[in-house]
Amino acid sequence: MQLQLLTWPEVEAYLRTSRAIILPIGSTEQHGPIGLIGTDAICAETIARGVGEAADALVGPTVALGMAQHHLGFPGSISLRPSTLIAVLRDIVESLARHGFERFYFLNGHGGNIATVSAAFSEIYAARSLAAAVDPPALKCKLQNWWQSAAVQQLIKELYGDAEGSHATPSEVAITQFAYPAAIKSARLDPPVAPRGSFTDAADYRRNFPDGRIGANSALATPEAGRRLYEAAVAAIAADYRQWAAG
Ligand SMILES: [Zn+2]
Repeated sequence: MQLQLLTWPEVEAYLRTSRAIILPIGSTEQHGPIGLIGTDAICAETIARGVGEAADALVGPTVALGMAQHHLGFPGSISLRPSTLIAVLRDIVESLARHGFERFYFLNGHGGNIATVSAAFSEIYAARSLAAAVDPPALKCKLQNWWQSAAVQQLIKELYGDAEGSHATPSEVAITQFAYPAAIKSARLDPPVAPRGSFTDAADYRRNFPDGRIGANSALATPEAGRRLYEAAVAAIAADYRQWAAG
């Protein structure tokens, strides 16, 4: 169930059955010569909608912009600075908390968001601790990366081994191909497996990773593999969500 396709009385009715919501969060950033700019948001959104159906859960609007400063050397990338993303997440959670939501399950598609989302949770908890003379109602946030479960990790290893890499990975590209088959791209990747390493800012990133990929051979992606990854992620995350939302 998608929040944006409900009416307010329907949201009110949902709140009588559950106080939990799934919030997909991604990024809008380059993903190499064949990966879509929206890859991280598309992966998080597609999987979140599947989890919403499997677990009868409400799915909020996708936070499609993330902390992606290191990708700004490539056209099309958009970044929120960490402090902006923290403020955005805090406002989203506090808006929903006002209506009675208590559990916020952020389904993440971008590794670069992890530190900032964790900091946002600390800001949210700190605001409550500092403001409350008495204990406020329970409020719990969780960050779950779509690729994190043992089942998905195993499948990625089987499909791609070391060519998975860490940015513009064939697994994330495959999920976008499954979700948007009309937007599949092709280009020659040279070298097929991109270099590995670390980076600081956008200029440093572009020097170290000239075509945008890190350690990945994005060309191994197929829509069929994307379907398998999607199904494995939905099953694992739906089980995790159910347990977390009830606990
Ligand atoms: Zn990505």
